[in-house]
Amino acid sequence: MNRDTLLDAFRETGGMLEGHFTLTSGMHSDQYFQCARLLAHPRHAAACGEAIAAKMPEGITHVISPAMGGLIIGHEVARALGVPFLFTERVEGAMTLRRFDFPDCCRAAVVEDVITSGGSLLEVASLIREAGGEVAATASVVDRSGDRNVDFGAPFQSLLKVEVNAWDPAACPLCAEGLEAVKPGSRHLS
Ligand SMILES: [Zn+2]
Repeated sequence: MNRDTLLDAFRETGGMLEGHFTLTSGMHSDQYFQCARLLAHPRHAAACGEAIAAKMPEGITHVISPAMGGLIIGHEVARALGVPFLFTERVEGAMTLRRFDFPDCCRAAVVEDVITSGGSLLEVASLIREAGGEVAATASVVDRSGDRNVDFGAPFQSLLKVEVNAWDPAACPLCAEGLEAVKPGSRHLS
């Protein structure tokens, strides 16, 4: 899978949206990647999982991902590597491995769908290290971290690095045109 075939898959599945969006960070943008729409198609999810797995170092024992975004891609990477997949979730704001015992001898790959600030991925990496595990690799399908150069304390790989415009709402040219910003993917959340 190369960059062009992945971009084509994003377009075909409606996973790359254009408009006026409020990002999770509060910034506004004219583009939004909704990875869930790409990963809704098992053949694309499997292909992405295999492509990420191919970039992983030897000796990964577990793939661990934050819910919800990391669930499908983490599972597919784990399937390709032939290792178990665990997921973390927030309990009262804190990232926890709520449903699983922390594994012995854990040499983990932490996998996300999209990273922007890298915050969730960092939280999962901290959780693993605090529990005595090793973070051997980190990865995402889409990397829109721009020039942040987030340090995960382990090698980071992505399948698609994208530069997305992100404006402070006060400086957003689309707001200046009087267009209303929407929060993508949040319409079913209260
Ligand atoms: Zn705006």
